[in-house]
Amino acid sequence: MKLPAFSYVAPTSLGEAVEALAAGAPDAQPLAGGQSLLPAMALGMVRPTMLVDLGLVPGLDALEAAGHGTVVIGAMARQRAVERHPELLRRCPAIGEAAGHVGSVPVRNRGTVGGSIANADPGAEWPCLLLALDGEVDATGPEGSRTIRGVDLYPAPFAAALAPGELLTEVRLRLPAGPAGAAFRELALRSGASAIVGVAAVLGTDPVGTVHHARVAVLNGGSTPMRADAAERVMLGRAPTDDAVDEAIAAVRDEVDPPGDRSFSAGYRRHLAGTLAGRALRAARDRIGGRAAW
Ligand code: FAD
Repeated sequence: MKLPAFSYVAPTSLGEAVEALAAGAPDAQPLAGGQSLLPAMALGMVRPTMLVDLGLVPGLDALEAAGHGTVVIGAMARQRAVERHPELLRRCPAIGEAAGHVGSVPVRNRGTVGGSIANADPGAEWPCLLLALDGEVDATGPEGSRTIRGVDLYPAPFAAALAPGELLTEVRLRLPAGPAGAAFRELALRSGASAIVGVAAVLGTDPVGTVHHARVAVLNGGSTPMRADAAERVMLGRAPTDDAVDEAIAAVRDEVDPPGDRSFSAGYRRHLAGTLAGRALRAARDRIGGRAAW
């Protein structure tokens, strides 16, 4: 398919990029890895008249396992770079588990973490991780810079809460302090295919093994990236036993509202969401205490 005509600019600073987007408003759009935007343009789903390529903007590709359980990822960090960062994966294997499910290696070589998070696809792995790992993003636009919590980023289907002309610049993911574990489980028809359903789970426990922090985020669990709050509440204040996990599985099945299509019914996805939540929660539990101190 042929792309429609558009003008192209490649700014060399964040300020220039913001100015270019403002100058081309309302039909200018940022271009990161192009792995979602260019196919969408080719299919006529979006018709920007100007693309503002972020590839030459310096300082947007940070990748750091910082202190206090925080992972800092620049918006333009390539998904493959995250997946191949040994220190980061040693500290939080769940990130690599999720990242490795995104499309194929060539897609991840080009695709960026910021692009995926801005794209707000409810079936995408990165927004799911953002919610499970208490993530937040920094954004810069004509009005200045601000921080947006992951839980506030997806108010509507396929829409990130970014103002017109606002650019996502940095993503931060966090594990709770103290003993904690996280895991991601997904089912797809084959490697590289879109997820049917996926679940990211995080558990943190106090010194006697009681869960004080629980996160369960479901990919394709609804029309936006979502957290399964009821399942999280089930896990809190008790040991993460198999009985607790079984109750959380039931809670997930109650609270998801997944899409159905010709290939997979909503009912099948609902059932699968519970099954994968169980697997992710058990894997997260089994990792508690096994990670390095951040
Ligand atoms: P782009 O395509 O460049 O941009 C995506 C959107 O985000 C656009 O609207 C763009 O304007 C906006 N944007 C980009 N960067 C910023 C920014 N810094 N600030 C504000 N807005 C911004 N994804 C999955 O999650 N799971 C999959 O299994 C999967 N499979 C794929 C298979 C194939 C064959 C292909 C081609 C893609 C697949 N993708 C999948 C999508 C892929 O992960 C994309 O890379 C990702 O969704 C978008 O990242 P990008 O850097 O390519 O962004």
